[in-house]
Amino acid sequence: MQLLDGKQTSEQIKQEIAQEVTRIREAGGKVPHLAAVLVGSDGASETYVNNKVKSCERVGFESTLVRFDADVSQQTLLDKIAELNADDSIDGYIVQLPLPDHIDENTVTLAIDPDKDVDGFHPTNIGRLCLGMPTFIPATPNGIMELLRRHDIETEGKHCVVVGRSNIVGTPMSLLMSRNSNPGNATVTLVHSRTRDMEAICRSADILVVAIGKAEFLGADMVREGAVVIDVGITRLPDESKKSGFRLAGDVDFAAVSEKCSWITPVPGGVGPMTIASLLQNTLKARQFRQG
Ligand code: NAP
Repeated sequence: MQLLDGKQTSEQIKQEIAQEVTRIREAGGKVPHLAAVLVGSDGASETYVNNKVKSCERVGFESTLVRFDADVSQQTLLDKIAELNADDSIDGYIVQLPLPDHIDENTVTLAIDPDKDVDGFHPTNIGRLCLGMPTFIPATPNGIMELLRRHDIETEGKHCVVVGRSNIVGTPMSLLMSRNSNPGNATVTLVHSRTRDMEAICRSADILVVAIGKAEFLGADMVREGAVVIDVGITRLPDESKKSGFRLAGDVDFAAVSEKCSWITPVPGGVGPMTIASLLQNTLKARQFRQG
């Protein structure tokens, strides 16, 4: 088994982006500027947003963090989004999900200017993705594709099983893997909670992408010998031996599955850091797009 090391690969990508930022700065250009909107104080969301902001600083981007209390009204949030859309100094921004129940995520997503939608969640950008047009590809699936590309993992003609059909991971992942591209050109099966005989389908996969949010769900009995396994899940499990009081677990039983597969992403240190690197790539793209 070999590790698909997202930490190391994301560091390489960040170095490449930092070099590009230096080039822009030396040429007298404006460096990319990412804004992040955080509603409430959910521990995991705080961590994700802080990591995104810190990563911006590391590569030389400007960053702005906009915070709201959990009880902010939907209208106040929409007003801020309109402001960010109109603000010429901001190249791209994200609204960290999930949002509190009283705010409709679809209304918020639709309000974001597609040209600043570096998360790639706006229907315009998802539509472009479906049609194979240039777009902002959602960060997590894009990060997985980059990980496959940079490790020369063969995908053409392979059977790729994507477990989970969320709008932000499973569904775009299935589209990307089925596209006529490299990586891509795979034969894709998308499975979900209503799928029958999921175990057998997973066992037939050359490439398995698991994104369901159930800690250590996928065991060795669901994996074919030599498969490539991408574990997207991140669940906090209570662990008193840790200072934080929890440990992070993926959707895959790493100890058992790593005995059987050819490549596997660890959690943490796999898909997570690649997601952040992809967001930075999308922000750089937004800057380049805006300057024409
Ligand atoms: P989500 O919106 O909760 O969707 C979960 C999907 O998994 C749904 O399609 C659901 O099926 C399916 N599912 C649930 N239980 C299942 C089962 N027993 N068998 C088959 N399918 C099942 O999830 P998400 O937003 O994609 O996130 C998934 C996980 O990835 C979470 O742990 C999340 O924290 C993590 N994540 C990590 C990153 C990263 O950067 N590493 C980024 C995003 C998300 P139905 O549609 O039928 O309900």
